[in-house]
Amino acid sequence: MKVVIDAGRCNGHGRCYSLAPALFDADDSGRGVVVGDEVAADQLDAARAAIANCPELAITIADHSATQH
Ligand code: SF4
Repeated sequence: MKVVIDAGRCNGHGRCYSLAPALFDADDSGRGVVVGDEVAADQLDAARAAIANCPELAITIADHSATQH
């Protein structure tokens, strides 16, 4: 599993990196960026909390087994 931020939607509210600092960080302008590639199993709840709390609905979760053959 992987989280993805749609940079076109992100408005830099910072909820993601406040709620899930292991998964997200801030760039120079305070917008969220994804840290690392894979969401560890113990970070799934944090990932879901960030997705649910992003005011811009900018975060999605991708299961890349669905895109690999
Ligand atoms: S919570 Fe959403 S809008 Fe805010 S920084 Fe994170 S991705 Fe961007």
